[in-house]
Amino acid sequence: MSLAQLEQELARDLQRLGHGGEPWTRPRVHPSGHVYDAIIVGGGQSGLGAAFALLRERVGNVLVIDENPDGLEGPWVTYARMVTLRTPKQITSIDLGVPALTFRAWWEAQHGSEGWDALDKIPRTDWMAYLRWYRRVLALPVRNNTRLARIEPNIADGVHRLHLAMGAPLLARKVILATGIQGGGQWSVPEWIGQRLPAHRYAHTSGPIDYAALAGKRVGILGGGASAFDNAQFALDQGVAAAHVFVRREQLPRINPIRHLERAGIIPRFAALPDADKYRMMSSFFAHNQPPTNDTFQRACAHPRFHLHLGAPWRDVAERDGEIVVETPQGEHRFDFLAIATGLVTDPRLRPELEGFAERIARWSDRYTPPADAAQPMLDAHPYLGPGFELLPRAPEDAPLLHGLFAFNYSAMVNQGLSAAALSGLKYALPRLSRAVADQLFLDDRQAIVDTYLDYDEAEFSGQWPPLREAVA
Ligand SMILES: Cc1cc2nc3c(=O)[nH]c(=O)nc-3n(C[C@H](O)[C@H](O)[C@H](O)COP(=O)(O)OP(=O)(O)OC[C@H]3O[C@@H](n4cnc5c(N)ncnc54)[C@H](O)[C@@H]3O)c2cc1C
Repeated sequence: MSLAQLEQELARDLQRLGHGGEPWTRPRVHPSGHVYDAIIVGGGQSGLGAAFALLRERVGNVLVIDENPDGLEGPWVTYARMVTLRTPKQITSIDLGVPALTFRAWWEAQHGSEGWDALDKIPRTDWMAYLRWYRRVLALPVRNNTRLARIEPNIADGVHRLHLAMGAPLLARKVILATGIQGGGQWSVPEWIGQRLPAHRYAHTSGPIDYAALAGKRVGILGGGASAFDNAQFALDQGVAAAHVFVRREQLPRINPIRHLERAGIIPRFAALPDADKYRMMSSFFAHNQPPTNDTFQRACAHPRFHLHLGAPWRDVAERDGEIVVETPQGEHRFDFLAIATGLVTDPRLRPELEGFAERIARWSDRYTPPADAAQPMLDAHPYLGPGFELLPRAPEDAPLLHGLFAFNYSAMVNQGLSAAALSGLKYALPRLSRAVADQLFLDDRQAIVDTYLDYDEAEFSGQWPPLREAVA
């Protein structure tokens, strides 16, 4: 089957499923302009999947916005530097159960079923190509080069105003923040590194690093997780003179809790656990850190210019005689550039989109008190969400302000586990989100919907008794 044939099959499947049915939501009128039922911020896999899931609910007055140019959404072809995805190829996600929409169908249409058998893991750039295809074949309404700067919540009657970095604001009844792994906080570089070095001497690995321009230079990388090794092998492929990875721990992380969560049936039902279990499990999840994949590690090790330093936290960094000097318990190391792979912090107060009302959003510290010896300020700072990813208020009087705002990003981890922001969880998270959004749209208009139903008097049956002679003949 070719890709064109797959697209025909998909179109037939969608037709059979009644996809694209007439919307049922009631339009809102506002003097400032069109009011969308939902605006999804972020056109990565979560945002695209959310748009499809809402269309399946016959919520059609939807717009996806993304700050990036068309086709460059998310990390895949921007700052992710591994060769393949870390996720096993069998996992299904944003297809929402439509076989012709799966990655496998897309792959087999181009490489045959032998090609699927021969595939080990999904190449990173192919995953992005699949996401572009998904967006095109579903004709999803995405507006690129559009960055949400700030939400002005509940300007009137449950309508939120979205101020953009450029251009006129947008209006929406529901705002879904599908803003990705850093979308609930920000990438973090230890503050003291920034204080000691000029900005051109270092970068977080989530940023655009031109490793080709660093060919022949020495690069020091801080961090023991998967991204540190992704960057090392990528930088070496681009011709850097040496890549040194520094890990604080004496041993590399070996256990990847995601694999257990996937197998043990935990991902679909994590949200049903009591808070105490969620807290303990997420605490352990973050303590594990994600190990490098075996293939990335082997790729890095295959370069004679790769060096690994275990039990080597950075004690200090300084710029001296045109070099960067990194001090560790094992001595000094000299570099031309540093890449920092130290992850991120999650906290609604760090997000520009939520500026002005972040303090009014309930966090875990407001709703759950862990045993004193188990407290984790990092977990406590996560927003405490409703079952459909809704932001909840700290104080009941703020409920109308936050009504209609959904955090469909990494900050949902403590409430929802891996359903948020990882491929393994999306097939469970998307129906939960779209149902919650559709339920709100419905219940917000409950009175009018009930009244319209009670007034309904359109005749469907047109038969006559006694029958007209002509009709019987
Ligand atoms: C290096 C790396 C490798 C990873 N590998 C895997 C993997 O193998 N498997 C896996 O499951 N997960 C992996 N992840 C996690 C990964 O980020 C997610 O699975 C995936 O990108 C999440 O999709 P998303 O749509 O939620 O977020 P993203 O893909 O990050 O998309 C969010 C989009 O929102 C945009 N955006 C953010 N804020 C705004 C704003 N204010 N206005 C407009 N647009 C905005 C962003 O620019 C981005 O385009 C990896 C992450 C990284 C960093």
